[in-house]
Amino acid sequence: MSLLDLIRPEIRALSAYHVQPAQGMVKLDAMENPWPLPDALQQKLGDRLAQAAYNRYPDANPEGLKQLISTVFGVPSGFSVLLGNGSDELIQILAQAVAQPGATMLSVEPAFVMFKVLANACGLNYLGVSLREDFSLDLDAMLKVIRAEQPALIFLAIPNNPTGNAFHPESVQAILKEAKGIVVIDEAYFPFRDGSYLPALADYPNMLVMRTVSKLGLAGIRLGFLAGAPALLAELEKLRLPYNVSVATQVIAETVLAEAETLNAQTLRLRQERERLFAALKEIEGVHPFESEANFILLRVSNAQAVFDALKRHGILIKNLSSAHALLRGCLRVTVGTPEENDRFLDAFQASMLAVA
Ligand code: PMP
Repeated sequence: MSLLDLIRPEIRALSAYHVQPAQGMVKLDAMENPWPLPDALQQKLGDRLAQAAYNRYPDANPEGLKQLISTVFGVPSGFSVLLGNGSDELIQILAQAVAQPGATMLSVEPAFVMFKVLANACGLNYLGVSLREDFSLDLDAMLKVIRAEQPALIFLAIPNNPTGNAFHPESVQAILKEAKGIVVIDEAYFPFRDGSYLPALADYPNMLVMRTVSKLGLAGIRLGFLAGAPALLAELEKLRLPYNVSVATQVIAETVLAEAETLNAQTLRLRQERERLFAALKEIEGVHPFESEANFILLRVSNAQAVFDALKRHGILIKNLSSAHALLRGCLRVTVGTPEENDRFLDAFQASMLAVA
């Protein structure tokens, strides 16, 4: 017997999350905020980070940070938050918590890939209901699966990755009403759209809202949170590793979120840039950009791989999703960058489209 035979077959069937090498490239592949923190904030952080107690374990239950998060992001009173090492970890905790024999996780396809990966890893059945051609929710199909399978956990990312659209509120409400399991509204891209499900927590006892600071400008610190009913979060809390949010992450989050307007100003600029990028892409022959409420734009071309490769030769890294799902045929995803990066992308994209025509 080989040691590898000890690994569960469903794990051996997975592929590791692939991160593309990006050295020296204009990096528009991972939905990051392109700007560093402003100088004054960097200075302040430098001092605080220098003095932090790295010899000690982090505060296992940082009430001050949780309170700050609730205030800054508008978690309604009466609801609590659970902190994760990125929202990835929260997906994992949720999947572990409901993984009884026969339990099911439901999401849509295409969706954020970690829903399925973590469902498999935790021994859940995974069901992905295909979106419609225009990437809207197929509500009838969703309701049918919910009634038949009674999923323990449903994930809906709003806006959705990789499509960029926000599902229609009436469809989402119908799902929330029909589902007897936990419905997680993943608002990773909340900074780029108006509207949120946080204020509706009181209306839907089975709903949790998940957010991350990653797209806001703090992807490097790994911090996400779930907001919802205290009784439910208290159960999930038992699965959280005691020190999952490091000393450095706590210091950085406390310092930067206390001045959240800095990051909000950056995300506002990214929203404006998204509209400029979308308008420019619409003018280019042979490309169909999809409207987005996130900090990326999905676009369809007739020869995605060739365009992707040509962009790479121009030093621009985006994401090729053309073989990720049937609905994504010909699709590339570009993250909105700084105005200069977006100009470079547009020039290179135009040149690439001509070169492969
Ligand atoms: N949800 C969605 C929809 C995402 O696109 C991502 C990151 N790409 C995440 C969650 C995970 O974010 P993080 O772990 O950085 O908080």
